[in-house]
Amino acid sequence: MPVIETSGSTEPVHAAPQRLMVRAHGVVKSYGTNHVLKGVDLDVAPGEVVCLIGPSGSGKSTFLRCINHLERVDAGQIWVDGDIVGYVQRGDALHEQSDKAMCQTRATIGMVFQHFNLFPNLRVIDNITMAPQLVLRRPKADTVRLGEELLERVGLAEKRNAYPRQLSGGQQQRVAIARALCMQPKVMLFDEPTSALDPELVGDVLAVMRDLAQSGMTMIVVTHEMGFARDVADRVVFFDGGTIVESGSAEQVITEPRHARTQAFLRAVR
Ligand code: ADP
Ligand code: MG
Repeated sequence: MPVIETSGSTEPVHAAPQRLMVRAHGVVKSYGTNHVLKGVDLDVAPGEVVCLIGPSGSGKSTFLRCINHLERVDAGQIWVDGDIVGYVQRGDALHEQSDKAMCQTRATIGMVFQHFNLFPNLRVIDNITMAPQLVLRRPKADTVRLGEELLERVGLAEKRNAYPRQLSGGQQQRVAIARALCMQPKVMLFDEPTSALDPELVGDVLAVMRDLAQSGMTMIVVTHEMGFARDVADRVVFFDGGTIVESGSAEQVITEPRHARTQAFLRAVR
């Protein structure tokens, strides 16, 4: 069995997952003495929508960041569509991916953050099409065609030539979703995409995400929107203290939580 050579660990590499879009196995991550992730296992099937809920500081963002290797795990492994994230297998050993290869892997994983981070000096269409042109080397005309389709899909076709400052927060977040989709990712990660928005702007963003879920996209969504989780999630996972405490259907986890910690959290957010 190959081992992760570069980390100096002799941890065995587990078998590549079958028919899974994302598999996290025994993911451990600390910042100094702060043990943030304490062995997280999560399997996500193609087309599945998983909502992660849990208290602030429980490690939800860190976990998402590990999935696209914005953070390096201390132990455990993550696969996306059968490829181990951050590593490449040669013979019997895993070697850390080159920065260029990592960039290509990351391109298959879309991420939408709480703060949209659009480029303020670029028009909407250029915000959306820049990465596929630069990272994927797609012809400009193709990216613009796809970008316009995506703008249509998120209800912002008429904002094609606007600058981010001319848009509301909710519109900017929808542009950020279109920007991630323009990379044609295999999976979309959302980290509290509506938390920074005025309440009246939340609905339009959730509607776009709902539409995306219905189109068959694999999604992992960190959210406090229990209504969204209940309606859209195939599975709800409750995270606390760096571990998954409870996981099941939305109905089961949100309506009839088994664990006292889940019950206490849900009482607090309602
Ligand atoms: P959540 O998203 O559930 O609120 P986070 O993953 O953001 O939780 O944070 C989990 C813990 O990790 C917190 O204690 C936080 O302070 C710490 N943490 C997160 N990112 C970093 C970082 N880059 N450096 C040091 N500590 C961090
Ligand atoms: Mg967070």
